[in-house]
Amino acid sequence: MKKGMKKTLIIVLSFMTLLMVWNQTLAQVSGPPTIQLRLMETTDLHGNMIGYNYENRKKTVEFGLSRTANLIKQARKEVPNSLLFDNGDILEGNALDEYAYRSHPLDLANVHPVFKAMNTLLYDAATVGNHEFNYGIDFMEESLRGANFPYINANIYVEDRNHFENDDLNYFNPYTILEKEVTDTAGEKHKLNIGVIGFITPIVAEWNKEYFRGNLKVKNIKETAEHFIPIMKSKGADIIVALAHTGLQSDKGLDEKKGNSVYALSKVKGIDAILFGHSHSVFPVRDELQKLPGIDLKSGTINGIAAVQAGYWGNHLGLIDLKIVQQEGSWKVKSSLSSIRPVYRTINKKSMPAVPTDPLIEQIMRKDHKETLDFLKDKK
Ligand SMILES: [Zn+2]
Repeated sequence: MKKGMKKTLIIVLSFMTLLMVWNQTLAQVSGPPTIQLRLMETTDLHGNMIGYNYENRKKTVEFGLSRTANLIKQARKEVPNSLLFDNGDILEGNALDEYAYRSHPLDLANVHPVFKAMNTLLYDAATVGNHEFNYGIDFMEESLRGANFPYINANIYVEDRNHFENDDLNYFNPYTILEKEVTDTAGEKHKLNIGVIGFITPIVAEWNKEYFRGNLKVKNIKETAEHFIPIMKSKGADIIVALAHTGLQSDKGLDEKKGNSVYALSKVKGIDAILFGHSHSVFPVRDELQKLPGIDLKSGTINGIAAVQAGYWGNHLGLIDLKIVQQEGSWKVKSSLSSIRPVYRTINKKSMPAVPTDPLIEQIMRKDHKETLDFLKDKK
């Protein structure tokens, strides 16, 4: 082959290869719009904003929101679109919570210490747990006013002492629809309406009888979901996230177990993701208790629905990564992956931090932590 011809051939071949690569890239980009959306969960914090065990008066690396905060910040940086939720049980459970209750009333300038910490993390929404009721309804209301994010719950109703279901009033806003600007995989911006609905285990009415009797009533989780989800869809929710303060299985001792577990909730049509709590477990993990029909522990789905449970006291961050594709004008969840990230690891039987603590939360909590220690001294 002549030198000139060889050169021409090389140029033609290189051009063809370039064209192929370009075509391939174009095919990837020009598919239907695809959004990667990460949902993050904390749950059952029970007042543990910093790594301190008030029981034995010792610092700990094993829990505390100031460490989860770093997992949240890391997880946020890894993806273009994310949302953060809390699943309840924050107002009762440790000495800081008890101190906050003893020192109320909390006025506008005196926000409940848990919200001083949580407000720095820009939560998108939260639901109440049964422990929110332990110090009474007035204290709960006073405390929740300090949160700079919405609280929702769909199955607690005002007790109106009649037998008509149709005129029953929700005690909280049953759901919220968050309008979020998201960036798809091709860099295009879209408005995505994320419907968020909250549920609580009906055991709350038994464990907090003195506050519920005559004032509030709790309805079945599955039936409540079946009522509200079509309404949320009709109001424009593109995808639906359920915050369920109930375990994978219903509570022991609950009169009506049917329909009050996450397992039952996962069978309701229209739900795309369930973040749950209450039972202080972690999901998904390789655990005999989680080996139920319809549960895929690899992807973290229950009857095909993405789900996660982030342990307790801030010892884990729960994550659900959703791949959402636009088809015929509407958004559909195509696949999901649930995972959990711990704040510490056990190495040679010793707990070692997986991430450092967040200096802002540590600083914000300093005064309330010191006052809690003084309160404990006086209590003795
Ligand atoms: Zn609970």
